[in-house]
Amino acid sequence: MTKSPTITTPSQPAQTKVERLYKAGLNSLLAMGLARAVLVATIVSILLSLLVCGTAIYVTMPQTMLEEWVYFAIITPAVVSPLVSLVIFKMAYELAETRAALANAASTDHLTGLANRRQFLESAQRDVALARRRQSPAALVMMDIDHFKALNDRFGHAGGDAVLVAISAACNARLRQTDLLCRWGGEEFIVLLPMCGLEDAVRVAENLRRTVENTQVDGIDTVITMSLGATEITLEEPLDNAIAKADEQLYRAKAAGRNQVQPPLGLLASPA
Ligand code: GH3
Ligand code: MG
Ligand code: MG
Repeated sequence: MTKSPTITTPSQPAQTKVERLYKAGLNSLLAMGLARAVLVATIVSILLSLLVCGTAIYVTMPQTMLEEWVYFAIITPAVVSPLVSLVIFKMAYELAETRAALANAASTDHLTGLANRRQFLESAQRDVALARRRQSPAALVMMDIDHFKALNDRFGHAGGDAVLVAISAACNARLRQTDLLCRWGGEEFIVLLPMCGLEDAVRVAENLRRTVENTQVDGIDTVITMSLGATEITLEEPLDNAIAKADEQLYRAKAAGRNQVQPPLGLLASPA
């Protein structure tokens, strides 16, 4: 029902060894918790201060008494380091939290909490590659709520939103944990079914169709229905090709009268 997308996986900029080491070090410090990270930073600063001051004094003024500079080399970092590292680590924690929240917002549909299209394409590429390596089948089901515009017109946009939320939750609960349900856009959804051939995919689609038909939403006194198209992802087939095929089947389900799965299971089961 939609134009097939071009699949683009966001590319990660290459990191140098130093950058990787720096990130690994910072992550290990952050994983310790704020208090421990500050303590470690303070101890490291004192040791470094002793090393630098000791070397400098030994080279420039070797006759200086030990206690004259050791006192200074310990006290200064012991006072300054906790304050400075506390500020830096607090900022690093906040940055890490903001990054995690942004990553979550970029990959999740804000209304339903499902994966969004970008996240789906990224995860599906990985799952399909894995399925191919294991020589196991994978399938796609594309689904679209029937006459959703009329539903919006009758119950308002908020009513339509409530339907989208309820259907997303009901379908997600019906699927396996390894299946990937995504809000493809508007009132369209797509599911990737790893380790699933066409016949099983049609069965799953039929279960989802029935689930939606039986979903009750507060204030929506009408039966909600959905049309679905299923397809197997064949070996070496690009993902966008399989998505286009599922979309084609969905279109056939709409044309054949809606509230049904294409291809129908009976058609698959009958001998050729
Ligand atoms: P069909 O059975 O052929 O699929 O008809 P339809 O009415 O479901 O399809 P159509 O494409 O005509 O309408 C889809 C509607 O979905 C139009 C749009 O306003 C509505 N819609 C898209 N996104 C949202 C959303 O996030 N919330 C709500 N409430 N409505 C949305
Ligand atoms: Mg629709
Ligand atoms: Mg639609």
